[in-house]
Amino acid sequence: MSLFTDVTAAPADPILGLTEKFNADTDPRKVNLGVGVYQDETGKLPLLAAVRAAEERLAAEPKPRGYLPIDGMKLYDDDVKALVFGEGSDAVTSGRTITIQALGGTGALKIGADFLKFLNPDARVLISTPSWENHRALFTRAGIEVGEYRYYDPARRGIDVDGMLADLRAAASGTIVLLHACCHNPTGYDLTPAQWDEVIAVVKAGGLVPFLDMAYQGFAKSLEEDGAVVRKFVDAGLSFFCSTSFSKSFSLYGERVGALSIVCADADEAKRVLSQVKIVVRTNYSNPPTHGAALVETVLKDADLRALWVDELAAMRDRIKEMRQALVAGLEAEGVTDFGFIAEQVGMFSYSGLTKDQMIKLREEHHVYGTDAGRICVAALNAGNVEYVSKAIAAVL
Ligand code: PMP
Repeated sequence: MSLFTDVTAAPADPILGLTEKFNADTDPRKVNLGVGVYQDETGKLPLLAAVRAAEERLAAEPKPRGYLPIDGMKLYDDDVKALVFGEGSDAVTSGRTITIQALGGTGALKIGADFLKFLNPDARVLISTPSWENHRALFTRAGIEVGEYRYYDPARRGIDVDGMLADLRAAASGTIVLLHACCHNPTGYDLTPAQWDEVIAVVKAGGLVPFLDMAYQGFAKSLEEDGAVVRKFVDAGLSFFCSTSFSKSFSLYGERVGALSIVCADADEAKRVLSQVKIVVRTNYSNPPTHGAALVETVLKDADLRALWVDELAAMRDRIKEMRQALVAGLEAEGVTDFGFIAEQVGMFSYSGLTKDQMIKLREEHHVYGTDAGRICVAALNAGNVEYVSKAIAAVL
């Protein structure tokens, strides 16, 4: 009998399990469409030129690595706030919004969840069906009960907006609603601006607490257009949470760079909220790491580097769009003509509509790896593999 005798093995992470299988596959044609990572046209994780330049600048003037403030680097927090809400936004100029540096989007969500639990021990959150796998686990571990609102409708290959609105209307006042600001993961389907207005009206009327998860700003249309969703919530006069991740947009996955913003009613409230959020941070990891945020801040504050980054982000976005079109064309060449929806979706992921059996076949017979739910990462396609993937998908249909 040891201390850990009764510990049962947790189920393997479905995505990581897929990667393990992929790594063990010796077929040279293998393609991994499982992980949520952007790859360039050569199939490699990019190091952005803007990041490399920032790295060189920082290295030219090495600094000691003291502790950062609990809420992170002030200049970083200010620049991120301006990026998310827009420079002149009332949410920024009024002083009623706090932005703290966080350990990626996940860290931002966790700090937000812990603070929400502190605010209301009986808190309940609604997430979309389906949603990013970690949303449920993360809120559950924070002691918050997780429910769902309808989102994806396989029959119409799109969003069940009426179902979503009905579920939000039925939610009790104070219920947290987790919303993907853009590039919905895993489906690739986003609400239209008019549909966002409807959601906001229901959220407002029902006294719900919006939590926007913004892991892909700049990957749908542009930084500004994708940020417009956040500004709609500001314009509606709502208090809300917004998590930011720079993992994808700066290709800085392992540096853990993100932020949590909380829009409050006024500057005095924001001060009090910040003081409590700092306690959440302090009791989790004390203060955030220096390097990744220093890189992002160096890029954001310098006009040239920023312009370079905006171009590189656009290039990633455009390449994904091209790959969506190439996949649709490749499928058409194989006689599959009803997959045009792939080009309509946005972001790194696509719900292919393939069944679990078809996804297994794709894996076992064709060495193409996606999740059992039919999610494929279109950002892992390139000119060298898209034809092969098209043929493989056509073969299992
Ligand atoms: N939210 C969503 C919707 C995501 O897809 C991801 C990353 N896959 C995250 C949050 C977490 O981002 P990070 O890697 O920066 O923690």
